Amino acid sequence: MELADYERHLVGLLCWSCHAATGPCNARQRQCPRCRKRWSYDRKRIHWELLKAFCLNPTAHHAARYIRCTYRTAHQTYMRFRLALGEMTAEEKRPLLGELELDESYFGGKRKGKRGRGAAGKVAVFGILERAGKVYTVAVPDCRKETLMAKIQAATVKGSIFYTDEFVSYKDLSRYGKHVPIDHQETVAEGSAHINGIEGFWSYAKRLHRLCHGVDRDNFPLYLAEYEYRYNHRDEQLLSILFDRLYKTDPIKNHLP
Ligand SMILES: [Zn+2]
Repeated sequence: MELADYERHLVGLLCWSCHAATGPCNARQRQCPRCRKRWSYDRKRIHWELLKAFCLNPTAHHAARYIRCTYRTAHQTYMRFRLALGEMTAEEKRPLLGELELDESYFGGKRKGKRGRGAAGKVAVFGILERAGKVYTVAVPDCRKETLMAKIQAATVKGSIFYTDEFVSYKDLSRYGKHVPIDHQETVAEGSAHINGIEGFWSYAKRLHRLCHGVDRDNFPLYLAEYEYRYNHRDEQLLSILFDRLYKTDPIKNHLP
């Protein structure tokens, strides 16, 4: 079933099997007079509204209040959407090549105290941006040279051009490709020698992450995959992508919690 059809059935209260107009049979359910099938209007409405809300990306808290469902339902459904985005992110992974911008950043944790590299309570994230292509991110336990080099070798094609800052963990990159370290002290970036692309992604992802207060460490990779997917597909319709993934094949069944 296509997205427009789905919404037409939901708004018009039509039967999901034979498309006849349905009537209420009890407080929660509707029944088709022709084929006698029953379905829960409220559950379907809530899932549909949560899907739309997620695409506009307010928090699960706001969505729950607006849609009139419990926070638990909103949160669990949002996590299911994030899981789908994570799966799709994993499916479209392929080796990155050409001009690549590499950088690491820190997410979450307490605002006070140490900032930047090695800040307490924060999750380290390593990112690679393929110019005119996609961004790739991965949460890492630390930003030591061995850790980052292993991620670089797993994700990129040898012989690519690597733009980085002057962080010591990148100093062996010239053995793996062409390494262009960028001196941030220089006032203006010269030509292509910059990492503005990946820095743009960090500010995009952090803006989204600030909305989700207190993400725990175990769930963080799902949030990260969400930011990555949203960024890589920012010119596409997230609503139809998620609809196709989760609802299209079997709109009768409720797949979500
Ligand atoms: Zn019917």
